[in-house]
Amino acid sequence: MTTATPKKNVVIIGGSCVATAAALEAKKYLPSTHRVITIEKHSHFHYMFAFPRACVIDGWENELFVPYTKLFDSPEKGQVIQALATNITKTHVEIDRPIEGFGTSIEYEYLIYATGARHPEPGNLNDHDTKAGAIQRLKEMQAKIQKATKILLIGGGAVGLELAVEIREHFPAKEVTLVHSRDQYMPSYKTTMHEKTVAILADFGVREIRGDRVVIPEGGFKDDFKMIKVATRDGKEIESDLQILCTGMTPQSDLLSKLSPQSINPKNRLVMTKPSLQIIDDAFPNIFSAGDVADLEDVKTGGAAWRQGIVCMNNIIKLIKNPSTPSTGLTQHAPMAPQIMLYFGVAKAVAQLKLFFVFCTSWDFFLKRFFSYNIHASRSWSWLGTPLSKETADK
Ligand SMILES: Cc1cc2nc3c(=O)[nH]c(=O)nc-3n(C[C@H](O)[C@H](O)[C@H](O)COP(=O)(O)OP(=O)(O)OC[C@H]3O[C@@H](n4cnc5c(N)ncnc54)[C@H](O)[C@@H]3O)c2cc1C
Repeated sequence: MTTATPKKNVVIIGGSCVATAAALEAKKYLPSTHRVITIEKHSHFHYMFAFPRACVIDGWENELFVPYTKLFDSPEKGQVIQALATNITKTHVEIDRPIEGFGTSIEYEYLIYATGARHPEPGNLNDHDTKAGAIQRLKEMQAKIQKATKILLIGGGAVGLELAVEIREHFPAKEVTLVHSRDQYMPSYKTTMHEKTVAILADFGVREIRGDRVVIPEGGFKDDFKMIKVATRDGKEIESDLQILCTGMTPQSDLLSKLSPQSINPKNRLVMTKPSLQIIDDAFPNIFSAGDVADLEDVKTGGAAWRQGIVCMNNIIKLIKNPSTPSTGLTQHAPMAPQIMLYFGVAKAVAQLKLFFVFCTSWDFFLKRFFSYNIHASRSWSWLGTPLSKETADK
């Protein structure tokens, strides 16, 4: 009688853009000696790209949370485990609950650390682990926006900008003020992107304050719909009965910092990697990191995270085939040209795209063909192997 050799694990912590790209790559090329185990605390993949719209328009939230159940054809090839990773040792990842076949500790031969970043809610629903809980949170935000009359958005990144326009498009009677700490929107992109954005905000009647910061009261905003005057550092006062934070991100690098403190950049808490995306610490050539948690030159977008996930998995496959490959013999990550599309309501957009080696900014006339009520959430259902339909959307 022959006994099958147990498979070795390529473990990914975090089940978002990096992990999905890496898993799809593994499905094609990972040797049969290995399988992928993704550890993700959410029950479903979160399609964050559409959250700004889903905070305003109701009735389609279920399309933004995709089950992981069909990502892999069989547990022999891969599995997504719903759990919180609580510790990383040299050989295992410890999790917060027992899982059949693993217990509370999962052995890894290779690890991809892809825990991303926290953003203030509702841009990111990090703490809502079930589909029902995350949908409930979006519905609460819709109700708040409906109830408020003067809304203050703090932070003019992609989330603040898109949310400002969505609110004005659907509730033109509500006053929306957007405060941005810099003079320019989207400073990693061409200035024409900024100029076009300013023009669209004006079209929609969004009040803007740039180059100034809101003074956040100690203990945060009360969220009680009382009309209050919020001060800015430059001494302005903004009247509002709802305040929404759309400010920056916090990398979730703490878990890795315990195993390899030297891999964490003390200035920004991002994980430092070699060009191969192995963490900078030579003691762990089998640990990779990518996406929003990684200290890479790329602008932090889903597209960049996706490309980096592919590099991680390709390099792991190279190492499985030839474990002595030096870091320099692996694929070297090259930063992605900054590209993004901002959806401004249902019929307007601004994008920076690379077309035939030239960076172009473009708006709705050209971008019309890419409009979609759910910001193309259907593609994430295809990635995860469950085509989107009325029946599947509720699962
Ligand atoms: C509202 C919003 C809109 C956006 N729109 C766009 C867009 O239109 N286009 C674009 O390209 N990019 C967009 N982005 C950026 C994009 O979403 C991110 O760059 C991308 O999601 C990063 O992917 P990631 O895999 O690095 O990590 P993340 O997406 O941050 O995911 C990390 C995952 O790790 C999990 N996790 C963390 N710690 C643990 C742990 N200890 N145990 C288990 N699981 C854990 C989290 O639950 C999470 O699912 C948007 C971001 C936001 C917030």
